[in-house]
Amino acid sequence: MSRAKIVVIGAGVAGLTTALLLAKKRHHVTVVAKHMPGDYDIEYTSPWAGANYFPFSFEHEPARKWERETFPELWRLATQVPEAGIHVQDARLYVTEGVPVTGFMKELMATDPWFKNIVHDFQVIDKSKLPKGMVSGTAFKSVCINTAIYLPYLLGQALLRGVVFKRASVNHVADAADMHSSSTKADLVVNCSGLMACKLGGVEDKKVIPARGQIVLVRNEAPAMYTTSAVHEGDDEMMYIMMRAAGGGTILGGCYQKGNWSPDIDHNLANRIMKRCVDICPELTGGKGIEGLDIIRHGVGLRPWREGGARIEKETIDGVNVVHNYGAAGWGYQASYGMSEDTVELVEESLKLQAQL
Ligand code: FAD
Repeated sequence: MSRAKIVVIGAGVAGLTTALLLAKKRHHVTVVAKHMPGDYDIEYTSPWAGANYFPFSFEHEPARKWERETFPELWRLATQVPEAGIHVQDARLYVTEGVPVTGFMKELMATDPWFKNIVHDFQVIDKSKLPKGMVSGTAFKSVCINTAIYLPYLLGQALLRGVVFKRASVNHVADAADMHSSSTKADLVVNCSGLMACKLGGVEDKKVIPARGQIVLVRNEAPAMYTTSAVHEGDDEMMYIMMRAAGGGTILGGCYQKGNWSPDIDHNLANRIMKRCVDICPELTGGKGIEGLDIIRHGVGLRPWREGGARIEKETIDGVNVVHNYGAAGWGYQASYGMSEDTVELVEESLKLQAQL
């Protein structure tokens, strides 16, 4: 495949991973993005994520393939590339008593899940070792990503391979073809605009909506990553704890509020989050309750949820060949390599067809 001129819209985990994989194939890549690593903005999801690898895709979904393909690379980075800001952590997953296990939690909480031979040391927790109010549980080793290190790491890896980064807002997806660093028209545009795919001209995908997540970042340390299948205070609230690599603090979450665009901190929700986390993991504060939490900041991020699942597809828009990679909701990191590899495959298919014309 000859070297093509490609513009990638977006510098979240999707855009950066895709740009890196395209550059590894020796393509001439320019990333154009309104927000870059280092920014914290409600229109930029990636910095807000925990982020860890807790797979919850359903059978027959491409997401399962993407999650399966991504884990080995995240594990390699965690075990061999310390500067990527990813580390191996023990995970403990508990099923909450008296609340049905629904939605994506069904897969994550299974005692015989599809991913048991993908993560490491999977086991069912003995009932005698469960915290109060939990009826069953599983444990395994997985990874946790410090997004404040990992996003700049990806950017640096892309720069090393010649990718050019431009800060700009794109009005219409086809306009991006005129933003290549060569100052000539790009052969193809990759759309990794995340949640904003619902507003980007030429795309305006109404199936994409936010699934709001609110978190508290604390200095306290947790001995493992934890989550429960449900909480008693509502089905759009959650409980999860994950300590980021390399001094990144510990993320306490959360919620999954579909259709909610609010960037404002809900302080009542923040208190419920902190209380639930300390109840499940009293070690966080050495038994001092939520008063013992040392808060770095509260945060809100909007997951790019898409009805019918993420979109990895190619199409021609106003004469420009476009490949889409967006809509990974709450699993954009844990599916990142699988999604980006499929995106690169579509890019190469599209370039081959262009070459035959
Ligand atoms: P984004 O990060 O939003 O990036 C979009 C990019 O496109 C930005 O650079 C933006 O500026 C650019 N852009 C958009 N429109 C335009 C335009 N018109 N012109 C120019 N640039 C544009 N995932 C996991 O795998 N594991 C987890 O544990 C996890 N936890 C999460 C916890 C929370 C609280 C949240 C909010 C998310 C979590 N996620 C997790 C999900 C994950 O963060 C997302 O799936 C992922 O970040 C989406 O990345 P993205 O690159 O598609 O979008």
